Amino acid sequence: MSVMQGVIGVYSHNDASTKSHYILYGVQHRGQESSGLTTAGNHSIRTWKGKGLVSNVFDEKFASFTHPTDYVIIGVASGENSNNGIAPVESREHDRYHFSLALDGYFPEKQGPNEYMFKKSILMHLEKGDSFVDAFKAAMKEHRDSYYSLVMAVWDRRERKSMLIAARDERGIRPLYMAQSGDSFYFASESAPIDVLENMGEEFTVRKDVVPGSLLVVCDDKITEEQVLAPRRAHCVFEWVYFGRPDSVIEGKTVHVVRKRLGHGLVELHELNEKYGDHKGNGLVVIPVPDSGRSVSTGVAEGLGVTADEGVIKNAYMGRTYIIDDPKYRKIASDLKHNIIRKTVEGKKVVITDDSIVRGTVSESIAKNLRQAGATEVDFLVSYAPIFYPCFSDPPDKPLAAQAFEGKSMEEIGELVAENLPSIDGVLYNSEDKIIWAVDLPKEHICTYCISGCNPFR
Ligand code: 5GP
Ligand code: MG
Repeated sequence: MSVMQGVIGVYSHNDASTKSHYILYGVQHRGQESSGLTTAGNHSIRTWKGKGLVSNVFDEKFASFTHPTDYVIIGVASGENSNNGIAPVESREHDRYHFSLALDGYFPEKQGPNEYMFKKSILMHLEKGDSFVDAFKAAMKEHRDSYYSLVMAVWDRRERKSMLIAARDERGIRPLYMAQSGDSFYFASESAPIDVLENMGEEFTVRKDVVPGSLLVVCDDKITEEQVLAPRRAHCVFEWVYFGRPDSVIEGKTVHVVRKRLGHGLVELHELNEKYGDHKGNGLVVIPVPDSGRSVSTGVAEGLGVTADEGVIKNAYMGRTYIIDDPKYRKIASDLKHNIIRKTVEGKKVVITDDSIVRGTVSESIAKNLRQAGATEVDFLVSYAPIFYPCFSDPPDKPLAAQAFEGKSMEEIGELVAENLPSIDGVLYNSEDKIIWAVDLPKEHICTYCISGCNPFR
């Protein structure tokens, strides 16, 4: 879990600009702080970026900025908001190649934005006389302690043409997806944003996850693919648990389905059919914390043989409350953002699901309001396990509720958290085994560092 980004790349002679917009909107859930696009073709390479949502940054002024014949576009929606950190990052240092890149990833020795680290390596190898693709491959080999899902637009000033490059580190920690339709090529962090093009009439002949460690170069309307580094898969499990869109398919696994299975896992693990047996019928209701708990509640309800209901409604226009620093305002924001449907919960035992409890602000505020609306009991089901280890790629000031968990069992942690959240009766977590079962990929291909302590870089 690090600062998240959603990256996109388009190579198309058929309105690349409009299509890159459509796809960029689809990765906005991966970052809401800044947005940017670089557009290139036979004339130039130019970047337009700024703070805010895609819809704020790309106003009508952008239309006159794009060249209608540009056919290479990369873009990013990002959680990054420092002035010099906004991507894509351009390089105009080299005589022949001007390029621009954006990535979703992490560089441990970074000075400045992640993109600078990759750019620096490429420039160094270009100086030595390498071809552009060789310089890129050398950069991949140099940054094996890092991870990235990367897109790059390259403007060749001598040949007066552009190419699109996409690459993924050998562990494949962050997702990267691609699709081909004739001589048009589309890349995005997830599949869902690309799928919408199909709704618009595009027909894909190829659609797949970019293989970890591979490099894809689209040049002269053709794609070449090379396995630069052998895959050592360690896909971040939190992509399925929280980051990804439910309608995305990551490494062949539909996020919504995985989340439902996380719900089934919770029912089995805590023997909820026995635990809630007396309440079934009229006295029990299963509801999600919107939106991150939604697929999970469906899974829990399926496991219990009841129908999941809606009891908490989120005002989607209030923006993100999670990133508010001041706990007082975070609580106010959560209270204002979530309202209870009294009819659903009045006089009932409420089982509410979410992906995680970090500082407990959202969960306690919702539980308090559920009780106010007449819920007799509130159990909180967490689809993920207790987080023991802060992610190796998280900034040191990232909120973490887990330090006190050291040496405690899952049950003890649940009790400890419930004690600290007065409106919640019980907190039930998932186990690592159930989580891996839910994702349904080989255990050794998934990174669970934050719950298991197994670091894929050691
Ligand atoms: P809390 O109020 O406990 O600090 O926040 C928990 C809520 O924040 C959950 O609903 C979770 O979906 C949401 N959330 C938003 N961003 C993140 C993130 O980056 N990591 C985690 N673990 N949860 C997040
Ligand atoms: Mg949430």
